[in-house]
Amino acid sequence: MHRETEIIRRYFDRQRNNGGVIIGIGDDAAAVKLPAGVELISAIDTIVEGVHFPRGFPANDIGYRVLAVNLSDFAAMGAQPAWALLSLSMPSLDELWLESFCDSFFELADAHAVVLIGGDLVSGPLAATVTLLGSVPEDAAITRDGAQPGEIVYVTGSPGAAALGLQSVMKHSECPQMERYFRRPVPRITEGRALRGIASSMIDLSDGLLTDARHIAEESAVQITLDAAALNDTVSGELLPALCGGDDYELLFTVPTGKEQALAALATNWDCAVSRVGRVGTGEGVTLPGYDLENLSGYDHFSV
Ligand code: ADP
Ligand code: MG
Repeated sequence: MHRETEIIRRYFDRQRNNGGVIIGIGDDAAAVKLPAGVELISAIDTIVEGVHFPRGFPANDIGYRVLAVNLSDFAAMGAQPAWALLSLSMPSLDELWLESFCDSFFELADAHAVVLIGGDLVSGPLAATVTLLGSVPEDAAITRDGAQPGEIVYVTGSPGAAALGLQSVMKHSECPQMERYFRRPVPRITEGRALRGIASSMIDLSDGLLTDARHIAEESAVQITLDAAALNDTVSGELLPALCGGDDYELLFTVPTGKEQALAALATNWDCAVSRVGRVGTGEGVTLPGYDLENLSGYDHFSV
């Protein structure tokens, strides 16, 4: 058998085609069936060696991460993931590496009932891309542009933890207990979905809380005023580095005051903390009274 076909069958075609899959891995394209009354949601994210993870980063963590970052985008829309496509570029065909990559990829996929329906395998610099497909009920997606003056800003988890974890990875385990926040960010899928009808706007933290809050402020045409005391109680490590550190994959969202009680009731069942960290007002941009944020920003691939 063709080597590539054999590799694809052995490593990637390992889930049973259910969950609306009509044509899965092995043909020229896949076919899936969406239930009635929903919208198709799609997201794509690429991770590249030397950019998103350091050289020598374990295959296991790469396999987890490439799916987790896409799941996090779905969480931020309040969407339900269902199907994935995976494009993998590798310098050589190392089966031990592939096995380790696939173990964590499929563990996370199965945990969220995501079926891999296709992909691509090429030789080249180490990089992985996932396209994730799924759905939300009609008009239920939570976007970045719905924040209104008077609302409250909330965040899940403890932003800044992943940046401390990455620092530890780069400096060879200076702070190993933080590394899991970088290696295995937990996509907040359940929380994101539960926030439909409660959050007026939402984003996941990939480029740092400050940059991501600015995205909501800009898209919603509002001003966000962050609260330093609340943030100090919430973030990991020092405040300003925590606001600029990326890769947390927590959710930042806004809630009308009338829905705060409903949020509190929901959040008692969640695995993560939820903290009130700011307010929405009229104006533009993001401010943090007592601090000058003007020259601060998060990660930007093409900053000049
Ligand atoms: P083609 O040359 O027609 O594009 P490929 O040989 O690239 O076909 O792929 C054959 C089948 O295997 C397709 O269904 C494709 O989606 C699937 N496939 C290829 N690579 C992967 C992968 N990394 N993960 C999952 N499915 C894959
Ligand atoms: Mg083809």
